[in-house]
Amino acid sequence: MKFISTNGKAKPVSFSTAALQGLAPDGGLYIPKEWPQLSADFLDGVCDKSLQQIGFEVSRLFVDELDDKLLKKNIDEAINFDAPLVELDERKKVLELFHGPTLAFKDFGARFMSRMFAALRKDSNRDLIILAATSGDTGSAVAQGFLGVEGIKVCLLYPSGKVSHIQEQQLTTAGQNVTALEVDGTFDDCQKMVKQAFSDASLNEQLLLSSANSINIARLLPQMFYYLYAVAQLDSDFPPIFCVPSGNFGNLTAGLMAQKIGMPVTGFIAATNANDVVPKYLQSGEFEPRASQRTISNAMDVGNPSNFARIRHLFNGNLQQLQQHLWGASFSDAQTRNAVREVYQNYNYVVDPHTAVGYRAAQQYLDCASGYFGEDTRTPVIILSTAHPAKFGDVIEPVIGEQVPVPDRLASCLDKPKQSITMDNDYQKLREWLLKTYESGS
Ligand SMILES: *Cc1c(COP(=O)(O)O)cnc(C)c1O
Repeated sequence: MKFISTNGKAKPVSFSTAALQGLAPDGGLYIPKEWPQLSADFLDGVCDKSLQQIGFEVSRLFVDELDDKLLKKNIDEAINFDAPLVELDERKKVLELFHGPTLAFKDFGARFMSRMFAALRKDSNRDLIILAATSGDTGSAVAQGFLGVEGIKVCLLYPSGKVSHIQEQQLTTAGQNVTALEVDGTFDDCQKMVKQAFSDASLNEQLLLSSANSINIARLLPQMFYYLYAVAQLDSDFPPIFCVPSGNFGNLTAGLMAQKIGMPVTGFIAATNANDVVPKYLQSGEFEPRASQRTISNAMDVGNPSNFARIRHLFNGNLQQLQQHLWGASFSDAQTRNAVREVYQNYNYVVDPHTAVGYRAAQQYLDCASGYFGEDTRTPVIILSTAHPAKFGDVIEPVIGEQVPVPDRLASCLDKPKQSITMDNDYQKLREWLLKTYESGS
């Protein structure tokens, strides 16, 4: 199985190259060259399969550089938590993707990627150093995902004073092979320094650097698993509609990829906050990226979603084709808060602000656009719940008037002492520190 670039100017590469390189040399994103199909046997028997079994069989279609045993072991280790489907009512279900260590769906991508990097890295004499800038959530998933993985060191840069308390605790208390650099600057400064490091040829001769950012194809593969696992858990004769709270659109792209390999599905809903370039595009045909706007569903504050290049590629840039599979809607913070309240009042269920955007979109679809995909009126709508509400207690609690209990795996990092190294907003300082810390290779 080869992977090609969405820009079409780079040569096809293996999964390991696509994963370890991240971005294709022509600046495009890697995407599978072909779409192998899930067998009829697999789909007929899917309701008896575990998330991990589905993970193995899906990965097998794309990853041919690991033998079955090793692939299976890595998937069992990476995806060591569940993704249950919860029923709100006849039509609406919630797929809970927050049962991993950092309570957000990014655990799927980060944990799978870390095991794949460790298993596929080319030079086993040297440590692989993952360098990443983070504004919060990605960094904690990466820190936890790579924690304790042999042969890999993680260095995270985050803007001092500009991440939430919980996020900072998650970033700075991992320990072991994870180091957090607290940068005296903004997220953009962190990102700029990381980019400088990757383009510094002499540094890259001395250190084996790799990125773990959201455009990596290794993060998308494991996100296909849970779409199929949702179908497996569904008790319905009608293929579902998936409603996906979206920012950078990696999650939604993974759903479209699952459809490509034969998952039965009626359609997708792109749910966004005020950062609404994709819903706008679906309506007007104009794709107009803008600077991101801050909202209470901050992990979706993306003004120029990078995975849009993959979505375009999947539909050959054809808007009409895309519209047959994707409907979109965007919501303000006030509407998001109302949705949190409504779900709590109607179903006695607490959702985080990102999931609330998804709920609101699903409800709007059912109220105003039902039948858009030509579906039966009994077609279930599955809302992807991307984070645990306890991560956003400060937003949720005033709305529902109750405390949100904090799960143990989050509570435990809140007690640990913060361990970070302060770093000036100065690339030369970062460069010196990286060499001093990692050059010996161990
Ligand atoms: C990252 C994130 C999203 C957005 O996912 P994309 O794949 O970037 O569209 C939504 N919700 C939460 C909680 C996230 O952390």
